[in-house]
Amino acid sequence: MSLVRRRTLLKVIVLGDSGVGKTSLMNQYVHKKFSQQYKATIGADFVTKEVQIDDRIITLQIWDTAGQERFQSLGVAFYRGADCCVLVYDVNVLKSYDTLDNWREEFLKQASPSDPKTFPFVLLGNKVDIDGGNSRVVSEKKAKEWCLAKGNIPYFETSAKEDFNVDAAFLCVAKTALTNE
Ligand code: GDP
Ligand code: MG
Repeated sequence: MSLVRRRTLLKVIVLGDSGVGKTSLMNQYVHKKFSQQYKATIGADFVTKEVQIDDRIITLQIWDTAGQERFQSLGVAFYRGADCCVLVYDVNVLKSYDTLDNWREEFLKQASPSDPKTFPFVLLGNKVDIDGGNSRVVSEKKAKEWCLAKGNIPYFETSAKEDFNVDAAFLCVAKTALTNE
């Protein structure tokens, strides 16, 4: 029996309106850092992080946008070969929830996965820390209904600022991405 574990590289792309916290979630997950300052770009196409799932080591290659999501023009290289698509909205901003359908459809159009019906998505409702939840406009129930309607997409409520549920969400991302191998 070989002692060398199989290594797997999985491409994950993170989509959602500008300002919802995509870059912050990735920074929190990969670098354990949060910045209040708004940075439209992280200066790299992707970051990587290794995760162990059972006896396998998975390298997640997580792709960020450099602010081009404002124009919904991310280019075909961004979408190509994605194994999982993470959709992010801000629970305090209704518009960012309303555009989820557009982002999902845009992904399916650009990435054109072999089976759109079973392609793995994960939804993150971010910034649940703000105002102790008093300024939220999208309920957990409403978000879960959307997920159910789209083929039972896994849903996590997160805070990149307080590092709430970030690891759990990306562990799920890794597991879901694996199903697309
Ligand atoms: P992106 O445009 O989707 O990449 O969003 P950013 O990660 O750049 O975040 C936009 C702004 O929201 C920045 O000022 C962040 O500091 C802030 N932000 C991101 N995530 C959170 C969060 O979970 N809670 C709070 N309170 N602020 C956040
Ligand atoms: Mg960003």
